[in-house]
Amino acid sequence: MVSSKVWGDKTVFACDECGFKYADAETAKECENFCKTHNACNPKLTALALAR
Ligand SMILES: [Zn+2]
Repeated sequence: MVSSKVWGDKTVFACDECGFKYADAETAKECENFCKTHNACNPKLTALALAR
């Protein structure tokens, strides 16, 4: 489950598998699906991450 968190002055969406935070829920969900399937992060997605 992607969880939204207040981070600084904005809301971010965190992948529950790897903990990377994204500006949009869609990317966070994509990351989570990839993490679950491959047991690793997709570098294309983590490049878009704001933080871990
Ligand atoms: Zn992830």
